[in-house]
Amino acid sequence: MFSILASKAKTSRANKTGSWRSLKKPKYLKTNCIGCKLCKLICPEGCIEGKEKNQYDTNLDYCKGCGLCVYICPKKDIEMVDEDK
Ligand code: SF4
Ligand code: SF4
Repeated sequence: MFSILASKAKTSRANKTGSWRSLKKPKYLKTNCIGCKLCKLICPEGCIEGKEKNQYDTNLDYCKGCGLCVYICPKKDIEMVDEDK
């Protein structure tokens, strides 16, 4: 009954959802990254791109600002910053 209202995980590529963020966005510092890919694996939107250490970054057109990438990063190489920075 509710399947029409729910959206499947990682389907927001079809609809840009970056405008849903209201306060914070992730900023990749690109200094201590070890290329573990944990940020990419945990992102519910599948919007983190990159293959080598210090090259990972978020496609802000699709990032909803949940902060999971910041939480999981073992090197603290991602920060949540104000939307206007
Ligand atoms: S804040 Fe959330 S949606 Fe945005 S890149 Fe990080 S894990 Fe993905
Ligand atoms: S979780 Fe942190 S250390 Fe791992 S790939 Fe992402 S930015 Fe790099």
